Amino acid sequence: MPHQEINKVQRIAVIGGGIGGLTFAIAMRHHGIEVDIYEQAAELREVGAAVALSANATRFFYDQWGMGDAFDEAGSQISALIYSLRKSY
Ligand SMILES: Cc1cc2nc3c(=O)[nH]c(=O)nc-3n(C[C@H](O)[C@H](O)[C@H](O)COP(=O)(O)OP(=O)(O)OC[C@H]3O[C@@H](n4cnc5c(N)ncnc54)[C@H](O)[C@@H]3O)c2cc1C
Repeated sequence: MPHQEINKVQRIAVIGGGIGGLTFAIAMRHHGIEVDIYEQAAELREVGAAVALSANATRFFYDQWGMGDAFDEAGSQISALIYSLRKSY
């Protein structure tokens, strides 16, 4: 049986430039795949909310993608988590 060459994906489109789309795009580029990102918003800006990253996600960005310095500069460590269950009945 002749050797069949597997068609490797070389370029993909990502719809949406949120953290999911951007993270996926970076991951694909680490695999040598070109990525075109399509974002509907005219600009990406802060919405006034914090983004908390758990230890597993943070460890990946630090260890696998070498983004520790950028995270240290942009973020801060959470000193406490307070969960509140408010019942209105
Ligand atoms: C007020 C608030 C506070 C939050 N706080 C936290 C927090 O502290 N910690 C945490 O982990 N999570 C938090 N979240 C949740 C977090 O924001 C989401 O889980 C996360 O942003 C989801 O990422 P995503 O990339 O999947 O989607 P999104 O961030 O929603 O990104 C999707 C992108 O796709 C674009 N898009 C959609 N449709 C199209 C289209 N047809 N064509 C082109 N572009 C398109 C959108 O414009 C958007 O930019 C918070 C959310 C809110 C609203």
